[in-house]
Amino acid sequence: AVIKIFGLVVLLLEMLCCVFILAQCHFKSPRCVFCLIVISLYEPGVQPNNASSVINALLLHHYKRGAYYPKGGASEIPFHITKVIQKYVGNVLVRAPVTRVLVNSKGAAYGVSIKKGQEEVEVRAPIIISNCGVFNTFKRLLPPEIQAKPEIQKRLDMLKPGRGSLLVFSGFDATAEELGINSTNLWLFKNNDIDAMSVLDEAPEKVPWMFITFPSAKDPTLKIRLPGKTCMTILTMVNYEWFEEWKDATVKKRRDDYMDYKMRFAKHLFDWACMYFPKLREKVKKRLYFNLRNFVASRGATYAAEHNLECFHIDVMAKNCCNTPDKHLFISGQDVFSCGIVGAVHGGLLCASTALGQIVYVNLFLLKKKLKRRKAREMSAVGKEKLQ
Ligand SMILES: Cc1cc2nc3c(=O)[nH]c(=O)nc-3n(C[C@H](O)[C@H](O)[C@H](O)COP(=O)(O)OP(=O)(O)OC[C@H]3O[C@@H](n4cnc5c(N)ncnc54)[C@H](O)[C@@H]3O)c2cc1C
Repeated sequence: AVIKIFGLVVLLLEMLCCVFILAQCHFKSPRCVFCLIVISLYEPGVQPNNASSVINALLLHHYKRGAYYPKGGASEIPFHITKVIQKYVGNVLVRAPVTRVLVNSKGAAYGVSIKKGQEEVEVRAPIIISNCGVFNTFKRLLPPEIQAKPEIQKRLDMLKPGRGSLLVFSGFDATAEELGINSTNLWLFKNNDIDAMSVLDEAPEKVPWMFITFPSAKDPTLKIRLPGKTCMTILTMVNYEWFEEWKDATVKKRRDDYMDYKMRFAKHLFDWACMYFPKLREKVKKRLYFNLRNFVASRGATYAAEHNLECFHIDVMAKNCCNTPDKHLFISGQDVFSCGIVGAVHGGLLCASTALGQIVYVNLFLLKKKLKRRKAREMSAVGKEKLQ
């Protein structure tokens, strides 16, 4: 109860602050309003008329101080986190899909079953935290008798899976300078009616918008690691139903018509990008590669559950919490708060607070103060040294 009250107070303060920022933006600049609409469309993965303005304000608040890209690419995040986990006697398993959450006769979770080749291995633990989303956890990993519990069914009914994203990756034998690209993300729209554009058409040639990013242009280490190479990622949203007929086929063994359909999307999106960056076509090296994110596991959804307006109703927020009716099983990640990396981080903090029974935000705040003081001491020592 204390965690929830604290969370609500923080949320209320954030809301007030964000509504203020939002109002400021609305009145100051039409360009800013357009940016907000763009944020609504992509960041929560829902169309603007179904997106929470408070969450948009939080996003704006977050991005107004700038965004970050990890030096060395996204793989640096797990690489460094793994070391911290191991330092505290934890362990990290990769390519180890969890097939079941183990639940005893009293309804308490006591471990997970992991697939290791053809075998199933049991890993036991006093607390189980699931980060693979509400749908995966409740529908795929829990035993049927637990799934059938009314609390779980109600919670599943409150949420719906989010939209899928289709990605096109391409590699180039050229530097960013040669291609005329930079680290800016680009949004391309075919018209100005953003709400109308969120009704998607299954004809790849009618894709209404796309997002282009050049990760290599953001990474200062790339010039050393892969000199003369560049990459581009294009993203657009698609409906899972268009691809559903191929869901049962193994990856890379799907029929040719699946490949043809995806290639039509890729060709159209790539050609569209070339209109803005004509040098891309002549320097493209790697065959275009496509991915429909988490195709089967989460219906291709970019952000697991859809973060629509209903998700932020107070009763939905209260019920869609980190606790589960299964004792010792907790839910973390983007489904319990909001989507995106920062949303997922908050999901993690809320989950840690619930599982530990203490507000880890306070610990984090004190740690930040301590680190700031340490940094100030170090800076003043360096300053004194220089003066001597
Ligand atoms: C193309 C793309 C671009 C994005 N860009 C941005 C961005 O620029 N900024 C931003 O803030 N957000 C971005 N996002 C969103 C962001 O990646 C997600 O919101 C965030 O990763 C959610 O974190 P999470 O930990 O909740 O879930 P995830 O990162 O999805 O982690 C869940 C993990 O569980 C694993 N898993 C699932 N089932 C099982 C199982 N049975 N056993 C074991 N493991 C399992 C999955 O493999 C996955 O690794 C982007 C998403 C996509 C798809």
